Amino acid sequence: MKISIIGTGYIGLITGLALTKKGNFVTCLDIDQAKIDALNKGELFFYEPRLKNLLKQALQRKLLRVSRMNYEDITNSNMTIIAVGTPELNYDIDLRYIKNAAKSIGEALKRKKRYHVVVVKSTVTPGTTEQVIGKTVAYFSGKQIGEFGLCMNPEFLREGSAISDAFYPDRIVVGAYDKKSSQKYISLFRSAKCPIIGTNLKTAEMIKYTSNALFATMISFSNEIARICEKLNGVDCEDVWNAIHLDQRLTPLGYQIKTKRLSKITPGFLQYLRSGCGYGGSCLPKDTKALNSFAKSLKLDTPILRSVIRTNNTQPQQIILLAKNALGGLHGKRVALLGLAFKPNTDDIRESPGIKIAKLLLKEQALVICHDPKVTEKNIKNNHPELTIQLFPDINQVLKNANIIIITTSWDEYRKITPHQLKKLTCTPIIIDGRRILSRKNFIRAKIPYFAIGLGN
Ligand code: NAD
Repeated sequence: MKISIIGTGYIGLITGLALTKKGNFVTCLDIDQAKIDALNKGELFFYEPRLKNLLKQALQRKLLRVSRMNYEDITNSNMTIIAVGTPELNYDIDLRYIKNAAKSIGEALKRKKRYHVVVVKSTVTPGTTEQVIGKTVAYFSGKQIGEFGLCMNPEFLREGSAISDAFYPDRIVVGAYDKKSSQKYISLFRSAKCPIIGTNLKTAEMIKYTSNALFATMISFSNEIARICEKLNGVDCEDVWNAIHLDQRLTPLGYQIKTKRLSKITPGFLQYLRSGCGYGGSCLPKDTKALNSFAKSLKLDTPILRSVIRTNNTQPQQIILLAKNALGGLHGKRVALLGLAFKPNTDDIRESPGIKIAKLLLKEQALVICHDPKVTEKNIKNNHPELTIQLFPDINQVLKNANIIIITTSWDEYRKITPHQLKKLTCTPIIIDGRRILSRKNFIRAKIPYFAIGLGN
């Protein structure tokens, strides 16, 4: 099938590449010339494991084209997927990019006689696909919804493991305006090995928000528990969570084919029931706020959602409190901040707790020296030009002479930090483990002050 995708960011590109793997011809469209040029040279503008190879293969096999936004590529395709951003705007959803994309599709379809399916992959609140996107396409094309197909296919892939998520999804949700739209779009997933949930447009939109709100709630709940534990001498939230996780309802026994024995299954969602610096990234923060605003527009109060957001907004401050208590003040102190990406295996700093903590540290007039395996100075300058931090590629350079070390992203290489390494590099090492990735006992045994989210002292 010939598919055009509007918006060649994170989701648009990965969706496009996954579709080329199934033999479809994909044209990814964007308005950002720098991205288009980079991709056509086989270069990525963000970091994601295993993606570069896929891009090169798709370009070599001539299954992928990346081009500036134009009408011809839309009319020449059978289907257009919208994957533009839906960022936050004053605690609500900014539909500017969505409306522009819908207008372009409408203007393109005005010139086309054959049936065309419009698929929304961007995260939008219930009703938006039909009322905003469908109606805009209809207005500019002069056609009724139904004369063109309309689907909503929320995306669940996670940055850092996007390739396996895209190729082996847990489920595919397809909301459709009518049967014809859904049949056309679902035909793309003939070889899928997961359940395909066919539903209406609003349910598909709601499934995505509920999923993200659930994960955000688990994280904020874990962080509230951590705050209580911090006030209790001798209580560590890690011990609390480890015991909770052993509940059979969370970790049931399952038959392991490899060992031919029954053993505990640890579902992935349990990682959200751990305490840390809070959630970040391009989805959870904006989607919880958008869902809350959407509920408000329905004249509903959603106190749980409001608290989830409030707890997350204040979680970086908890790290500052721990650091202040440990040092007696941060003014003029040299702080080694480990991790700027919002999670490991990505260079995405959108809404990253590491960036928020860096800002708070600067406010306290600390000297902030940072390390992150993937985040670049250019990335920081483009997105946070006001952030006067120093970023070094060598972790030892960052740790050297630090008054305090704060871990804000659970990159694997930070798990390898040893008490010996710290003692060699700093005279009076103090650790704040914001992600609970170090062995508390090792540091305490080495007489290195170890403070952490959820650890009562
Ligand atoms: P992004 O900002 O990385 O990419 C959006 C792209 O759209 C940009 O390259 C931008 O230049 C382009 N664009 C904007 N207006 C355009 C137009 N009129 N024509 C052509 N291109 C245009 O965003 P993203 O992270 O890929 O997210 C896209 C959507 O997917 C959002 O709604 C997001 O909530 C959702 N989503 C994201 C993730 C994720 O992990 N990033 C996961 C699930 C869902």
